[in-house]
This record gives sequence, C-alpha cells and structure tokens, in this order.
Amino acid sequence: VSSSSPLVNSNSTQTAHLKVGERIINLDHGDPLVYEKFWRQMGDKTTIVIPGWQSMSYFSDLSSICWFLEPEFAREVVRLHNVVGNAVTEGRHIVVGTGSSQLLLAALYALSPLDAAEPINVVSAAPYYSSYPAMTDYQKSGLYKWAGEAGSFDKEGPYIELVTSPNNPDGHVRHSVVNRSQGFLVHDLAYYWPQYTPISSPANNDLTLFTVSKSTGHAGMRIGWALVKDKEVAKKMTKFIELNTIGVSKDSQLRAAKVLKAVSNTCEQEGSSPEGESFFRYSYNIMEHRWKHLRAAVERSGTFSLPTFSPALCNFFNEVLEPHPAFVWLKCEGDIEDCERFLRGHKILTRSGIQFGVGPKYVRVSMLDTDENFIQFIDRLSAIHP
Ligand code: PMP
Repeated sequence: VSSSSPLVNSNSTQTAHLKVGERIINLDHGDPLVYEKFWRQMGDKTTIVIPGWQSMSYFSDLSSICWFLEPEFAREVVRLHNVVGNAVTEGRHIVVGTGSSQLLLAALYALSPLDAAEPINVVSAAPYYSSYPAMTDYQKSGLYKWAGEAGSFDKEGPYIELVTSPNNPDGHVRHSVVNRSQGFLVHDLAYYWPQYTPISSPANNDLTLFTVSKSTGHAGMRIGWALVKDKEVAKKMTKFIELNTIGVSKDSQLRAAKVLKAVSNTCEQEGSSPEGESFFRYSYNIMEHRWKHLRAAVERSGTFSLPTFSPALCNFFNEVLEPHPAFVWLKCEGDIEDCERFLRGHKILTRSGIQFGVGPKYVRVSMLDTDENFIQFIDRLSAIHP
C-alpha cells in the first residue's frame, strides 16, 4: 500500500513529531480492530495449521455450483445463520468471494442482461456506501453503470438496486425504495449482526451478501459469502469469480470456517469463550458502551448532532434493544458547512458526506477502531465547543 493510499494509518507515519494528544486520529475507514482483544483471549481456539501438501488443488467441491467453495466453510455459514437467525439458508446456493466486495461485482455481472443495448442502471438510496459508485464504474463496463441516488431514479426499464441494511453510513434499517417490476435487488447485509442492530427476522431475499469483515472483524481474511436463490444467478456469479480469480483462497476459507465455528460455539456452548459470554454479547456490550460515550460527548460539545434509532425486539438476544451501528453519521450544526474539513482541523480524519451522495455537513466516523483511538476521539469531540 503506497503512503498516499487512504488505507495507510497516518497515526504511525506522519505524526511522530506531534505531542501526545495531538496525533491524528484516523477514523476514515471501518477497520474492525475493536474485536482483536476478543480473538487474542480466544487463544488457540481459532488457530489452524495447514500442512504444505494440503489445499493444493484449484477445486473444492465439484458437486456444488460454486466448485471452489470449501464444504467446511459452507457448513459453518449455514450453522451461524441458524444460530443467529439473521438469514434463511434453506433453498439458497452459497457463493464464496474474496470479501463481499468481489461478490458485489459478481452480482452486478450476474444480474446484468447480456444482450441489452445499454448498460443496466445501478442505484442505491443516499446516503449510500461510498464505494458503490466507484466499484460499479471503475472498469467502464458495458453491462452496468452507476445511475446514482435511488430516491430520484425515474428511468424506465431494468435496474439493479443495492440495499444496505443496516445502512453504511447511517445505521438505519433499509428496504428497497424504487419498487418497480423490472428491478433486481442486491441486499448487502454486512452489518446485519446482533452487535449492531436488533435481529428482527431472518433475511429472506433473492441475493444477500455477508462478510466476515464486520461480523467477526476478520477483514484481512478477505472472505464474504452470498446466499443466492436463483441457480442461474449463482452459476453466473461463480463464473465471474472463475474469470476474475479462479476461485477463492482455500486457506482463508478454512480459517474462516474455524472462526465462524468458534463464534457459533460461543453462542451455544458454555465455557467456549474466556468470559463465558457469546462473541455477540461481548461485541454488543462494547458497541453499547461506545455509543453511550459518544452520545454524552456530542451533548457536552453542543456542535454536532447524531441519528436517533428506535428500539426493537432482537430475536437473538430476546430483548428489546437499540441499534449501535458500526459508523456514526455525524452532522455539524450551526455555520460549519464542511464537517470533514472542520474535524480535520482537530486532527480527526473522517469521510465526507459528499462521498455518500449527501452534502458536506455530514461525515461518517468509524466506531470499530482501537480503544485508544476511540477514547482519544471522544475526548477531543467533547472539547469542541461552538
Ligand atoms: N458492503 C458494505 C456496506 C461495507 O461497509 C463493506 C466494507 N466497508 C463492504 C461491503 C466490503 O466488505 P468486504 O469486501 O471486506 O467483505
């Protein structure tokens, strides 16, 4: 990663000269470092050893539409959805991807009519995940093109709507907004896990995307999965991944299987985590704690406003709970027009609302960073006054 990449954490490189308390806090991206402590405490429960002779073939399971899908990983995906109750897996084909990012592209490829004169329009309701426009258009595909904000989409003909629920960046539960007959829906449920939002019912869509990046926090493993109802769509998605990367790392799938298994075990078997609580209870408590401190800091500051959420019954915890999203969709109040720039002045790096199809008064801030960065963020935010 080059030093100009947005993925470089500027804390370590560019800020050595700054006094403690003045360093740059980079909360621009959603790196899920908050979960590292849990996995450290789990010790060898999620360690795998892969001998040199193992996983050499391109192929995993020739009986599956997705022939590079490791059966052990597929089993753990089904088990976890059953344990959590966040998605119907019956009657679905599983397609594994190098992150859900690759699966999103595979879905666009699979849903685009091959013989159309014009590329199919791809839309999503604002504020939408900032990567969607660029991911859709960077290869200037003749099959599909970004057509912007779903709310104002009024073109005739087929379209693909990306539905992110709970939404990145604002955390709200989302449904499709276009609602016309020729639409294909892709449900991106990266954050539909109990630590972020009440699990109201199992998702039962035609094409749903999940990822370990935000569920267990293993973004570096680069594993996502799609639950696909239509066999032909699953076949085309598999074809896309074959053309793109000839499959998905088996090492990563085996590691993901081990991690998902450990998560399910913590939900079902006492004593399978160090503190005896499930991974989701552990991560829920952290998110709840962080949001409590965030709301208090915003109140002390008097400079910003936050989204509000309604509590709902979570069938996983069997309690009425408030959402605690992975990102804060923060609005600068008063005469601050450019919130990203304003916070940059306080050495807090965030992502501007402009990138999510909304104005510069909003920014997105990660809630998943390390304790150290989060505490600094809260301290600094509290001290900003109008
Ligand atoms: N969809 C959404 C809504 C996301 O927030 C992210 C990660 N930021 C992704 C997809 C991509 O996740 P990954 O490729 O790591 O699975």
